[in-house]
Amino acid sequence: MNAAAAAGALSTSDRQVSVSCRSISARYSRISVVESVHLDVRGGEMLAVLGANGAGKSSLFGAIAGIVSGSGNVKVDGVELGGMAAYKRASHGLAFVPERRGNVFATMSVRENVDIGLRLLPVAEREAQRRMIMELFPILQKREDAAAGVLSGGEQQMLAIAMALGRKPKLLLLDEPTQGLAPMVYDLLQHAFDVLKGLGLALLLAEQNLPFAARVADRYLVLSHGQVVRQGGRADLEHPDELADALLG
Ligand code: ATP
Repeated sequence: MNAAAAAGALSTSDRQVSVSCRSISARYSRISVVESVHLDVRGGEMLAVLGANGAGKSSLFGAIAGIVSGSGNVKVDGVELGGMAAYKRASHGLAFVPERRGNVFATMSVRENVDIGLRLLPVAEREAQRRMIMELFPILQKREDAAAGVLSGGEQQMLAIAMALGRKPKLLLLDEPTQGLAPMVYDLLQHAFDVLKGLGLALLLAEQNLPFAARVADRYLVLSHGQVVRQGGRADLEHPDELADALLG
């Protein structure tokens, strides 16, 4: 599916989405693991948050989504979500696909999982959104009746993203979507992310997989010990080997 063909189906809004996160911190009990991170991302753009194991990527995303304790401002399309519970942030257009596997209901069919993602969308909009999702990930359409638990890792990742798209989010947070997946899945994810960008979604990608981030991201920042230590654009991403040093700190 090309972006133009899909635009009518998914289009989040005619206006360009803007996302602004300021002074984001995250902590577990009293231990602070992310400190005062600022980031901006626009609709139609992907910002990659790069960092080694334990750098704080998942905690940062969790704090933005409201599922990890923390503080800071998260403005999506002019609406301040920072003080809201996670479910309210979701209802204002924020969707999060966490890193861990098992983001799908294994004993339910692909179709039922997608339906769960769609359940909070007005009934009249669900069928068009389901079509868009199935066109984005044709493999899910082919396997609609299969139990989610028998899908490959790549297919389960696509299904988790499909579920997150069920509510027509404005901002999609993707935490290491390629982790543990075969490189042949990368093309399918890249295609999906390109389509979603074309539809005006703002995308935040946490990655350690630099070659993949270099393929899909427009800008990046590097997180180390919970702080931003470097940021830049496509020119740097064209040279992922040089960025690898920054990741190792
Ligand atoms: P990875 O790529 O390995 O997932 P990450 O960059 O996403 O790493 P985080 O998972 O956010 O990093 O971890 C940041 C820090 O917070 C690490 O020191 C980690 O040990 C700690 N941490 C993460 N989750 C918890 C938790 N539930 N309780 C206590 N500390 C945690």
